[in-house]
Amino acid sequence: MERESLEMDVVFVGAGPANLSSALHLARLIAEHDAAIGNGAREGRPLGDIQIAVIEKGATIGSHILSGAVMDPRGLAELIPDFVEQGAPLESPVNEDHFLYLTKKHAIRSPITPPPLKNHGYYIVSLNRLTAWLGEKCEEAGVNIFPEFPGADLLYDENDRVIGVRTGDKGIDKEGKQRANFEPGVDLLAKVTILGEGVRGSLTKKLVRRLGLDEGREPQVYSLGVKELWELPDDRYPVGRVTHTLGFPSDQWTYGGGWIYGMQNRVVNLGYVTGLDYRDPLIDPHAEFQRFKTHPFLAKLLSGGKMIRYGAKAIAAGGLHAMPRMFADGVLIVGDSAGFLNAARLKGIHSAIKSGMLAAQTIFEALLSDDFSAATLGTFETRVKESWITPELRRYRNFHAAFRHGRWLGMANAGLQYITGGRAWGILDRDHQEAGHEAMQKLSAYGYNGDASAQRYPELRFDGQLTFNKVTDVYHAAVSHDEDQPAHLHVLDTNICATRCAEEYGNPCQRFCPAAVYEMVDVAQTASVNPDGTETPRRQLQINFSNCVHCKTCDIMDPYQIINWVTPEGGGGPEYKGM
Ligand SMILES: Cc1cc2nc3c(=O)[nH]c(=O)nc-3n(C[C@H](O)[C@H](O)[C@H](O)COP(=O)(O)OP(=O)(O)OC[C@H]3O[C@@H](n4cnc5c(N)ncnc54)[C@H](O)[C@@H]3O)c2cc1C
Repeated sequence: MERESLEMDVVFVGAGPANLSSALHLARLIAEHDAAIGNGAREGRPLGDIQIAVIEKGATIGSHILSGAVMDPRGLAELIPDFVEQGAPLESPVNEDHFLYLTKKHAIRSPITPPPLKNHGYYIVSLNRLTAWLGEKCEEAGVNIFPEFPGADLLYDENDRVIGVRTGDKGIDKEGKQRANFEPGVDLLAKVTILGEGVRGSLTKKLVRRLGLDEGREPQVYSLGVKELWELPDDRYPVGRVTHTLGFPSDQWTYGGGWIYGMQNRVVNLGYVTGLDYRDPLIDPHAEFQRFKTHPFLAKLLSGGKMIRYGAKAIAAGGLHAMPRMFADGVLIVGDSAGFLNAARLKGIHSAIKSGMLAAQTIFEALLSDDFSAATLGTFETRVKESWITPELRRYRNFHAAFRHGRWLGMANAGLQYITGGRAWGILDRDHQEAGHEAMQKLSAYGYNGDASAQRYPELRFDGQLTFNKVTDVYHAAVSHDEDQPAHLHVLDTNICATRCAEEYGNPCQRFCPAAVYEMVDVAQTASVNPDGTETPRRQLQINFSNCVHCKTCDIMDPYQIINWVTPEGGGGPEYKGM
């Protein structure tokens, strides 16, 4: 197949805060440098017309961005010191911090807010709006931005040096044949490619495996945040109020917590985080969130209100020990793709921005020396180590791992870590952090006696007022994918689904996916025996890929690790507005 090749200098994959900050900072460094040479203030050669491109799989910049979000402004203030005056879309400064412990019936307000959750001086933002604004700033600075262009594959030379990215083909039908509107993806060639794909990046995953960038590091662990926006009938929850909760509905072996943020126009933004290292195979993070809302405190807050938006996305929670090497020949990894998020604070925007800026400085020097080798790009990690990011992450480096020992020991450890600068005590230190899916137990081991019809939420009803089923929620994520394309969720061995997985785990994909993508359906009344002696099971996996909200949970949580999330045709996915 003939493919067009376009020569760029620098290509960013993913238009999130990390990459947009990086592209903007780089464009400015180059412009300042050339101007300084032009007016004699600096010696050297001008860099001239450096072509910077950002590709994004979403239909618009920001459409796939979902966050909380309370933003620590430290990163943004370094990138754009007068961001307030320049009209950054901020919902509100944080005016109040509340921390609640929820029992089944009561909400107990803690007299003190745990230090990581103190948000004085921070802002409540809609990250998808803020990202769109950063995209405009990039365009003003001369960066080329291409929405609807998913990065489908990295391009390598014969020495495994990354030389660019291939964008996804358009117009392939569900049988894999070319349609009338077929357009092959483009090879964007670059001196350096920056992966800022957010959590569990599909290209990042392949790169890390291919080059062994995670050697000697702990496996990344994840959580899943499920979120809704609600319009309230009155001012009962003030704009600028931030509430975090612990306790109900999570059991003490499941990492989890809730948030409620007051936004403008009587909108509250609430969500629930469930650790994707849960043990009970019947846990359903979407159902956990729905249960969260049935707590009397939440039910009262939301009564008379209307749910207006839904979304879900994974969070990389492993911290410092789980970060891969972030450079190789011709490539850098920034933001959530590299695991810069601080899980104890549930904050990653500030460090995503900062990591992007540090990458920009690295690329700027590489452009000056015309050297894009790992040796030069490796100075990115030195910059990260010398910046404020590393002390922050060091302080919380053992935060998540300790929750494997249950909520109370996890909390005690979190407190101790804070006092001991991240050390905590030996026994709960970061011993053998396992990949999250390994924590999931089989139905027989977890006490369901292997009963695949067992239920964890027998009392949960979706009433369409306070609680919603997944299909209704997905409608509020405004998801769309052209249905006549191959599924972008590759299940590498579907034979396991109706046999081993059904018996061992009760097909947990139906539960951990927050968008009803995976469904076991009856295809016959009984299993049938084929002429070759193999059996066609009674049930089969159906993949409703057009529901997918791109949260990446299936790629992370499948117990057999046989689900591979790849980018669908450009522009498909959720349309997160105000999230
Ligand atoms: C539920 C939830 C709550 C959070 N709450 C907070 C909070 O309150 N405060 C805070 O500071 N942080 C919070 N975070 C974390 C914060 O949102 C992230 O740390 C931050 O968004 C990371 O920025 P990023 O640029 O690395 O990635 P992202 O914001 O994820 O952006 C990545 C972009 O890359 C695109 N992309 C991915 N793959 C490809 C590809 N192959 N080709 C083209 N485009 C691609 C995606 O569509 C997306 O637009 C929260 C996260 C979640 C999920």
